[in-house]
Amino acid sequence: MVRFNDVHKSFGIVEVLKGISFAVGRGEVVCLIGRSGSGKSTALRCINGLERITTGSIDVCGHAVTPDGKADLHAVRKRVGIVFQSYNLFPHLTVEQNITLAPRRVKKTAPTEARALAADVLAKVGLSDKIASYPEQLSGGQQQRVAIARALAMQPEVMLFDEVTSALDPELTGEVLKVMEDLARGGMTMVLVTHEMAFASRVADKIIFMHKGRVHETGPRDLLSRPETPELRQFVGTGL
Ligand code: ATP
Ligand code: MG
Repeated sequence: MVRFNDVHKSFGIVEVLKGISFAVGRGEVVCLIGRSGSGKSTALRCINGLERITTGSIDVCGHAVTPDGKADLHAVRKRVGIVFQSYNLFPHLTVEQNITLAPRRVKKTAPTEARALAADVLAKVGLSDKIASYPEQLSGGQQQRVAIARALAMQPEVMLFDEVTSALDPELTGEVLKVMEDLARGGMTMVLVTHEMAFASRVADKIIFMHKGRVHETGPRDLLSRPETPELRQFVGTGL
């Protein structure tokens, strides 16, 4: 579904991704972990063209994302949902309106169909009773679950998550992770950047440890219990 082929990314003279290659199969959950600044967010953002790669290529659902900017980003973004640490819901719109906005505008989904879709994705994140609420009436965890529902409403083939629980109080983190785990168990293809090592060790099909812009070590979900490189051993040890 997603394949990085020797991807390099520089900001000016600073090379942030130094030749990344990995593949995400259909239905797989891949967790990117690593220290701050190791390039995790940049890698994720390259997938749907929020950052343009410098060399290499990324195959996304059959579309080639390339450095020349000729990639069909519209086609890619229709297939790839992304959720960030900040949920960015529109404060003046209800939960339902937040969710139906993109399907109606981008996909020209009919209003009745869009509302059915909203009900469906809200049920998936356990917030059916909040359909008429405004974001400010919800907790941070609930808002983040709405943000996930909003991404799901576009019926993506791949979901990207960048530290979606990092801004939440610990007691709200669990409910969001639960939604993500349910999605994973339901067969969604997911690439996520996370500091939740317990989650990665339980849910990931593959863990990718990034270090200084490279894939330093990779393995299945038990990778963290048997790190091979000193860098990963230290990362696991300090939990940073
Ligand atoms: P964190 O865990 O802190 O989120 P990260 O692994 O996600 O870190 P990135 O955000 O991918 O790291 O950043 C990797 C490097 O690229 C950092 O040194 C950062 O300063 C740099 N960088 C990221 N975005 C830009 C940008 N738009 N312009 C210049 N440099 C950038
Ligand atoms: Mg980041």
